[in-house]
Amino acid sequence: MSDVLRVLWTIVPQTAPQPWLPCSRCHNSRAFRSSDKFRINANGKRLDAWLIYNCTACGNTWNRPLLERRTVNGISPEFLAQLQANDPETARRLAFDLGDLRTKAQKVETFPQALVQKTLMSGSAQTAGRLEIGFVIPVAVSLRLDRLLAAELGLSRSRLQHLQDQGRLTLSPPRKGKLRNPPVDGMRMLIDLSQMSVAAAIAAAGAHG
Ligand SMILES: [Zn+2]
Repeated sequence: MSDVLRVLWTIVPQTAPQPWLPCSRCHNSRAFRSSDKFRINANGKRLDAWLIYNCTACGNTWNRPLLERRTVNGISPEFLAQLQANDPETARRLAFDLGDLRTKAQKVETFPQALVQKTLMSGSAQTAGRLEIGFVIPVAVSLRLDRLLAAELGLSRSRLQHLQDQGRLTLSPPRKGKLRNPPVDGMRMLIDLSQMSVAAAIAAAGAHG
């Protein structure tokens, strides 16, 4: 019988990154928040699309470029339909696309708060010798993996680092010494629980009470 407790953690960040941009109305640099609405402008066979942001102080708009002078034929019909429908999931995915946002704004503020939804897949927290956490990350998160683990498992960050140094905490695909990086979708973590209390396993599984 396997002694592995397998759980899935779905990480749902709460607040999308906010670019800081000069606001023409405030006459100052301000944080802008996604409205989750798109604007599309068709000009002949060419098309522009933006995600609309609002200044958090005065509501002034900033249009974040998504498509610039693209031929309609070159755009996936599915993506175009999502833009036209102001599809909330598409807006959310793009609002959390930190890499692209950083190409549009020099300063981008990120918010680490996230909900962690835990699902027990197999095994028992009481008898587990090892804990395997699979990460499901629908939109990119900006939080540090070691902070997340410390908060959710009740282990200190130095303890987690020590476990990794000893080879008792491993990540796949493997990442050396990168516990401070954000978790990514599809990542798996295996922890040897042999010298720990079952508290961490119970916390990881979300099997309280
Ligand atoms: Zn403003």
